[in-house]
Amino acid sequence: MSLIQLLPDHIANQIAAGEVIQRPASVVKELMENAIDAGATKIDVNIKESGKALIQVVDNGSGMNSEDALLCFERHATSKVRTADDLFSLVTKGFRGEALASIAAISHVEMRTRLEAESTGIQINIEGSKVVSNVEEACPQGTSFEIKNLFYNVPARRNFLKSNQVEYRHIQDEFERVALAHSEVHFTLHHNDSEIYNLTPGILRKRVVDVLGRKTNDRLVPIEESSEIVDLKGFVLKPEFAKKTRGEQFLFVNNRFFKSQYFNHAINKAFQGLLQERTFASYFVFLNVDSQKIDVNVHPTKTEIKFEEEKFIYSILLSSIRLALGKYNIAPTLDFDRETSFDLPAGMRSQPYNEPVIKVNHNFNPFTPTQSAPSAGSRGKKSENFSEAITKHGFGTEDAKTADWENFYSVEDSPKEEEQAPLIEEETSHGISQFLIKGNYIFTPSKSGFMVIHARRAYEQILYSALIKSFITNPIESQALLFPIEKELSKNEITAWESNAKMLKQLGFIGEIKEDELHLTAVPSVLQDETIQKALDRIIETIAHREIEKGEIAHELVHSIARSAAMKKMNLNSIEAVNDIIERLFQCENHTYTPGNKQIIDTLSLESIDEKFR
Ligand code: ADP
Ligand code: MG
Repeated sequence: MSLIQLLPDHIANQIAAGEVIQRPASVVKELMENAIDAGATKIDVNIKESGKALIQVVDNGSGMNSEDALLCFERHATSKVRTADDLFSLVTKGFRGEALASIAAISHVEMRTRLEAESTGIQINIEGSKVVSNVEEACPQGTSFEIKNLFYNVPARRNFLKSNQVEYRHIQDEFERVALAHSEVHFTLHHNDSEIYNLTPGILRKRVVDVLGRKTNDRLVPIEESSEIVDLKGFVLKPEFAKKTRGEQFLFVNNRFFKSQYFNHAINKAFQGLLQERTFASYFVFLNVDSQKIDVNVHPTKTEIKFEEEKFIYSILLSSIRLALGKYNIAPTLDFDRETSFDLPAGMRSQPYNEPVIKVNHNFNPFTPTQSAPSAGSRGKKSENFSEAITKHGFGTEDAKTADWENFYSVEDSPKEEEQAPLIEEETSHGISQFLIKGNYIFTPSKSGFMVIHARRAYEQILYSALIKSFITNPIESQALLFPIEKELSKNEITAWESNAKMLKQLGFIGEIKEDELHLTAVPSVLQDETIQKALDRIIETIAHREIEKGEIAHELVHSIARSAAMKKMNLNSIEAVNDIIERLFQCENHTYTPGNKQIIDTLSLESIDEKFR
């Protein structure tokens, strides 16, 4: 007997389904694309519980006859490719004939469809690839799909699904991608019976603005370029509206969304020198190329595409976006008189990073006990030493250049924290206890060399530990704002804010949504002035744009608050303040790394110092 057996169809279908349908959002994408391919001018998407309860897509497209209505659920059933040559000149979204077979294999499907020419249509119910009913039915022209119990027979997949919020975010992403690519089509999106989008047909600019919010209109810079190889159109957002997340980067080719690091690089290059640090340009770029010159077949879910002429397209992207930014006079607004000039974009900073220099009086030697006051006693008693050291010996907290210690240490093979911790108790034998460089690095001699503490990170860790402790039992102390902060939010951000409102309140953030704006009336009292905005940005990014397990959100949000609060310039001008930081740091359960896994402490061993002077 042969050991090899052919898999039964239903198992083969389930396996194939895994590639095409990864989550509810994949179903939404496939059904919407089919509706577009069927020539629909109106497509309604109706979602319940992030697609876990229901995904419904209704279109007014061509519809199917009773034969095709059954056939479409077979694997490799497609009306879009007849010959091998067709594969190379695709204008439709689908072509593999896999989507419906996959969906039907792993869910309960109800489909109704009617051709324009017919007076009655057909309704088919399928469960796990099996047709359970197939009846004539009076239904509107076009096709409607209802998908329920997705992954009911693939528990591994079902358990793998993320929180409703994350799954819903994926659905909205797919919806937006299709909607942006087809501004001539009327789309609606409902989630749990509330209307999220009602996008009436119009020109591309209208569609972009309808999806992103009305304020976007003034921020768009149009791009356009025609050449033999590629036609390019779309918009970039003015650099000052760059986002902290990559959320709004849309590339389409022949009205199909795709991802490309290579083209993304071209676009970012066009923005070089115009963006603030750690912000990302937003763009909506539509390429049109001869369909024979692209291969959409490289990726099962088709978000990566191969281009024959990619180098040429790269340079056209770069030059046309640069031109557009120049034409709209974006570059000159970034002059040094601008309010934000203190925070210049990375590319414009005083060019080469000078070799780390620490301004010191070379006669000063921290290891020489005679240079400072008597060595005995606690750290607190050494305040004169410390300030003397600063004033007399030129360890300026402001004017000394920051040494790039983090890089410096990364090449050191220094002992790990467990070995370092006790050293702090033993540093008293030398005349000087701590000193600061550039107000951020606390140097403190230890028996085997120097311990260096990143002060801001230490402070972040201290705040985090205190906040998380209090958060577990009580709401974090909140202060009312004299003037409420108004912040424009995207639809997705509003949903995220509303669904996390309770937790945000516990964290000290109290606000109200009015239209598409958040009116923030109270914030955690650890935040002040400019750190409020930073914290708010981080919080919104965390709840609306990052994929975080439910249980992790609180930790992430508390971390955001601590990180932002720690940005405020610390007053470390007295030895007491420095000692306080050190002592509180060592009271934290974890004093080696911040909650974001950034190193707080390192040591510079005597051997490694010797090494340098050999
Ligand atoms: P593909 O889109 O790759 O052809 P699908 O499995 O998505 O494969 O769909 C199979 C076929 O079913 C399509 O080729 C099309 O003929 C038909 N079909 C699917 N959805 C619709 C729809 N909404 N309206 C009309 N025909 C449809
Ligand atoms: Mg399809």
